Amino acid sequence: MNKSLHYFSLFILFMMAVLQLFGIEVYLGKSGTIKPSIILISIFFSLSIIYFIYIKFIFREEKYSICPNCEETFNFYELKNGKCKSCEGIDTIEIKEYYK
Ligand SMILES: [Zn+2]
Repeated sequence: MNKSLHYFSLFILFMMAVLQLFGIEVYLGKSGTIKPSIILISIFFSLSIIYFIYIKFIFREEKYSICPNCEETFNFYELKNGKCKSCEGIDTIEIKEYYK
């Protein structure tokens, strides 16, 4: 699935929660209706939040940074405060910036 499709599903999920919140019954054709309840509201809202975090996680941008001292490349997420792992106290530079 691509990003916009994921966001569309998230939107549906969130709208379900909002509809429940306003006490609107959702008709699902043959399977009947979803009657609003506190439990369903909580479930739909929790699912929306979890799904949102999931989307953010799988589509996060990979960022790489390079140390100007030892020229080693790191994934930005594995560094603490963007400092080089091998050289103490040296700030790494984002790889795009480095090759400018
Ligand atoms: Zn270094």
